[in-house]
Amino acid sequence: MTTPPGPPIPEAHAGAVLTIDLDAIAANYRLLADRLDGAQCAAVVKADAYGLGIDRIAPALAAAGCRVFFVALIEEGIHLRQILNDTGDPELVQAEIHVLGGLMAGTEEAFDASRLVPVLNSLDEIHDWRAYCRQLESPLPCDLHADTGMGRLGLPAGEVDKLVEEPSRLDGLNILAVISHLACADEPDHPKNRRQLEAFLDVRLRLHQGQACLANSSAIFLGPEYHFDMVRPGVALYGLGPVHGQPNPMAQVVRLQGKIAQVRDVDTPQTVGYGATHQVEGPGRIATVAVGYADGYLRSLSNRGNGYIGDFPVPVVGRVSMDLITLDVTSIPAHLCLPGAFIDLIGPNNPVERVAEDAGTIGYEILTGLGRRYTRVYVGGAGGTSGAGGA
Ligand SMILES: *Cc1c(COP(=O)(O)O)cnc(C)c1O
Repeated sequence: MTTPPGPPIPEAHAGAVLTIDLDAIAANYRLLADRLDGAQCAAVVKADAYGLGIDRIAPALAAAGCRVFFVALIEEGIHLRQILNDTGDPELVQAEIHVLGGLMAGTEEAFDASRLVPVLNSLDEIHDWRAYCRQLESPLPCDLHADTGMGRLGLPAGEVDKLVEEPSRLDGLNILAVISHLACADEPDHPKNRRQLEAFLDVRLRLHQGQACLANSSAIFLGPEYHFDMVRPGVALYGLGPVHGQPNPMAQVVRLQGKIAQVRDVDTPQTVGYGATHQVEGPGRIATVAVGYADGYLRSLSNRGNGYIGDFPVPVVGRVSMDLITLDVTSIPAHLCLPGAFIDLIGPNNPVERVAEDAGTIGYEILTGLGRRYTRVYVGGAGGTSGAGGA
């Protein structure tokens, strides 16, 4: 459901090329798994694998050893089950798919049909899943999500207490994991991390069924006491730095190259773009690239974004429009910026985090907003399956 609509766009037609490095994703999975000292490494592939394409990324993660996936929505789970079935690899056909968004009333059969694991977020969801299990006379798998301070999804403390007081409320369920989620994991010194850790330890003393699972990408870097039995990173797999203000240990996954459509000479007193927000201050050259806010190149990058031609910076000048941006290429040798040449909008010199900072947002939003009009090129991922079980 989240795959790009229509056939792939031929490179010659493309306004921009988005390259996604599957080997880098596999390397990132292994880097995280190797930090875990025995805990299992799941992978979060919600929102079409953070906008990068679950059809290609799930098999690449599976080949790197991943056997447990988390998605947000039931439809994402159904789609992923199909992808894993299509591999024909019996081990991948058996891989677990957990659905973080929980069990919506009336979806029980669909969960069961695709062998999805609902993450049960309330007593009502627990009640409904139990009723379905009872009807089938089969203890189907599920997770319990305890809210330890995120205040978003999960059993509030009072509902956890109720389960402990009345354990029969869990009879007939096959609980694979008890999970919780940290609110401030990307800030290692935030006192909320330890408070949530303690709250989760307390939940685990009282609800000890299945595996314990707390950590997202950032929390893996908070230290081993946050790892428990299983971790569930998302964004770090896709190359983003998991810890604020620290060097990024992850391999870069994404490159976005915008194609120059036109180059023009400009001089004062000309202006560039809608609203005439960029005033030309002297003789110069402007390159127009066929990428705009309709492609997820956010309008807040107007007069703030940065492209690169090789190592030469080329600032975005004027407003980002729907299909086009304009960049100042005055200082670039003319032969490097002819129509058809590429400008890195995301690349080695301007990684996703830098673009996010320029846009006043977070890397997650840049990734998940990447447009459907790009020619998508996947590199790597052809290597043999490791099947090593994912540490
Ligand atoms: C999205 C999500 C994750 C993954 O988080 P990252 O910061 O991308 O690693 C893990 N757990 C839950 C509950 C989530 O919603």
